[in-house]
Amino acid sequence: MTPALELTGVTKSYPGITPVVALDDVSLRVDHGELAGIVGPSGSGKSTLLHIIGTLDRPTTGDVHIDGHLTSAMPDRRLAAIRARRLGFVFQQFFLLDGQRALDNVADGLLYTGMPVADRLELAATALTRVGLGHRVTHRPNELSGGEKQRVAIARAIVGDPSLVLADEPTGALDSRTSDAIVELLTELHTQGSTIVIITHDNDLAARLPRQIRFLDGRIIEDTRNPIGASA
Ligand code: ADP
Repeated sequence: MTPALELTGVTKSYPGITPVVALDDVSLRVDHGELAGIVGPSGSGKSTLLHIIGTLDRPTTGDVHIDGHLTSAMPDRRLAAIRARRLGFVFQQFFLLDGQRALDNVADGLLYTGMPVADRLELAATALTRVGLGHRVTHRPNELSGGEKQRVAIARAIVGDPSLVLADEPTGALDSRTSDAIVELLTELHTQGSTIVIITHDNDLAARLPRQIRFLDGRIIEDTRNPIGASA
């Protein structure tokens, strides 16, 4: 089966007086249905990797495939389509539009489809129910708690049923109890079939995921899978 994500020999160098090799010959495969954490300390290359997987930046060398599509060599116009159709993003800072209801924020995740607005709103309502916010659809972000905002952002990421959800430090702005609930939600979505990669420096969070891909100095130093049902 075509993997959701495949990196082959990916290197990223930032030029300068002292060039930095942020990613050094990274090869990695994430299959459909996986929930994996990319974990490492500050400076290990996680953001660089996120940008490359998210098609926001290109590797210096190596290949990146998203759902079988070679993105590392694609023109920008096609990359925008891959981002819209096949990737869902969740960020530490949520990035919701303040003036819009939760429902509209989530429906925005379907703008690229050209779907009639009534259909977009219906799918958005379903996605909000999936993340436990069926009772908050008309709330605006400033009327929601941090955890609820992140649930809206997760609903927006999954509403178009992407091949891969990329979550960048999704609990970074949340207290520990709320963080636990967000990890539980992501785990539940994974159980329902979503493919999710979480980028984090938080070892405790990573330990709760079925797979941990550990980075140091731009290289994978460990790639482990927990036995089924195990949790830290
Ligand atoms: P992390 O997200 O794990 O903190 P980064 O991907 O941000 O790691 O950084 C990896 C390395 O690349 C670091 O040494 C960082 O200083 C360097 N780096 C990141 N972005 C740039 C850039 N735009 N120009 C030069 N060096 C960079």
